[in-house]
Amino acid sequence: MFTAQNYIKARSLEEAYTLNQKRGNAILGGGCWLRLGQRSIQNLIDLSDLGLDQIKEGEDSFSLGAMVTLRQLEQSAPLSDAFGTAFADMVRHIVGVQFRNCATLGGSVVSRFGFSDILTLLLALDCEVELAGAGRIPLTDYARMPYDRDVLAWIHVKKDGRRVAYESFRNSETDIPVLTCAMSEKDGVVTAVVGARPGRACRVEASLSLNAGEEEWQAFLDKVGGMHFGSNMRASEAYRRHLASVLLRRAFLRLKGE
Ligand SMILES: Cc1cc2nc3c(=O)[nH]c(=O)nc-3n(C[C@H](O)[C@H](O)[C@H](O)COP(=O)(O)OP(=O)(O)OC[C@H]3O[C@@H](n4cnc5c(N)ncnc54)[C@H](O)[C@@H]3O)c2cc1C
Repeated sequence: MFTAQNYIKARSLEEAYTLNQKRGNAILGGGCWLRLGQRSIQNLIDLSDLGLDQIKEGEDSFSLGAMVTLRQLEQSAPLSDAFGTAFADMVRHIVGVQFRNCATLGGSVVSRFGFSDILTLLLALDCEVELAGAGRIPLTDYARMPYDRDVLAWIHVKKDGRRVAYESFRNSETDIPVLTCAMSEKDGVVTAVVGARPGRACRVEASLSLNAGEEEWQAFLDKVGGMHFGSNMRASEAYRRHLASVLLRRAFLRLKGE
């Protein structure tokens, strides 16, 4: 468990950003990951008064606040109208309902865990992150950036008619995943994202018709095979490679509505 000398409820994003520049300070999301460490924090910065716990639907995009919980994403009717069951599928194996009521989108995206279900799905959508200091940047860039002391405020997800499907595999229910996959399709271009390889989620884009034959499908899989897969206590590299082809095919069939 961490210890904190002071607890500060930020009154603005600017205040949170300024406070967070000091090494000994930390932003509090849901605290679910933070509490596993032994950090001694000087100022713990709470964002809960900044209106970031909202899912806002605009004409062209959704704006998801950093303090939105995983459970809110799971239960959001507007998100399921736009993206089917993808958001619910993304989080449903993460520990349990009580946990998902606490863990936040912001804490999940900032942490950019190699095993992240959340990063995997969001990378298959057209997303930008909005940071208090650096402003708006594509999630594809943010996912590759090193950790810094910026504050994540919003994630903007385009409503561009993209169809998306999410699959993951775990050795046991609620464990962290052995492999995560998301696939989206828009105008004949398919984007596949594979995470927990066990590295951070990576994305591959290719033209692939939804009526693709076996040859076209194999060429697509060869492209995905160029990603680095590795072994750890949960699975071997060979097993993960095989699993990737199975989960991607399942996702593809779901995109086709089969
Ligand atoms: C037991 C366990 C099992 C898990 N299993 C899975 C799983 O299967 N799949 C999966 O995808 N995830 C899993 N997770 C991760 C989980 O979903 C959350 O991503 C994680 O708990 C972080 O979210 P939080 O809100 O608790 O963040 P916190 O613990 O509050 O914060 C995490 C880090 O992010 C920083 N931070 C938080 N919010 C912001 C912000 N807005 N701006 C800048 N920095 C910020 C904090 O300072 C801290 O360094 C698991 C976590 C635990 C503890």
